Amino acid sequence: RLVRLRQRLAGSNALGRGLLGLLSREQLDEDTWEAIEDLLLAADIGVAPTQELVERLRERLRVEGGSPDARTVLREELIALVDPAMDRTLRVSGEGEAPGVVLVVGVNGTGKTTTVGKLARILVADERRVLLAAADTFRAAAADQLSTWGERVGVEVVRGPEGGDPASVAFDAVKEGRDTGVDTVVVDTAGRLQNKAGLMDELGKVKRVIEKQSPVTEVLLVLDATTGQNGLIQAKVFAEVVDVTGIVLTKLDGSAKGGIVVAVQRQLGVPVKLVGLGEGPDDLAPFDAAAFVDALLG
Ligand code: GDP
Repeated sequence: RLVRLRQRLAGSNALGRGLLGLLSREQLDEDTWEAIEDLLLAADIGVAPTQELVERLRERLRVEGGSPDARTVLREELIALVDPAMDRTLRVSGEGEAPGVVLVVGVNGTGKTTTVGKLARILVADERRVLLAAADTFRAAAADQLSTWGERVGVEVVRGPEGGDPASVAFDAVKEGRDTGVDTVVVDTAGRLQNKAGLMDELGKVKRVIEKQSPVTEVLLVLDATTGQNGLIQAKVFAEVVDVTGIVLTKLDGSAKGGIVVAVQRQLGVPVKLVGLGEGPDDLAPFDAAAFVDALLG
């Protein structure tokens, strides 16, 4: 898996190689430290974490003197930054008759529907009974796309009429899930960002009607890594309207902005639980900080 992660993170790899090259210089002068800062900022780690990391690196290289192994120091400090004490367990089990419900939210185009399909694949491989709900009723294409994923991974999809009430689709799906002994219902939602109050009403209602029958065990916010800090600003709106329990960072393959992992965890106070590494059904993986840093360092 690490090999695949390395290949997929080819874009971010440039960050690791660049940092190692600079840190291994014989003279670490101010220009070099500035170049290190520039690299970290370009990878979207964010201003405060960049400054913290640079300070930690300077301190360690000074204290440990001689020629400490730059790779080891960098690896340790990056892992500390990427992996603050956060629980990354994915909660997908319900209670008794009630299935666990995973609500997937985020701006359109970030990879929500694809993530729902891939997540279903992981859960099915784990021998769970899964049902999908197409609660993005505004775009017929979205429900069609989810149905295609359902066929692909062998999971039934509950959908409603186009333009229908998203909460009613979610309600029907969870009811069907209860009645048929499903373990987990994954709900795909709409991601129009035109109006925060409207979004809050809609997601709030979807969540409330689900909770009449079953616990919402996870609210996963999908964020496109390639959109960097801009995407993060939009993602924050969702975090303000619904209690997000985990982040899915998609399109990490081919993105040079892997640093967004650090920024999103800091700014939202929520762990990255899953990462998207491609468009295929097997391209979703639990986030593993050490493997991620190793892939960055190549
Ligand atoms: P939604 O509008 O948020 O539901 O987004 P979609 O699921 O339709 O995804 C938008 C586009 O991003 C599609 O072309 C997906 O195939 C693509 N996509 C989703 N996740 C990933 C990923 O992890 N890596 C790559 N390279 N593409 C992805």
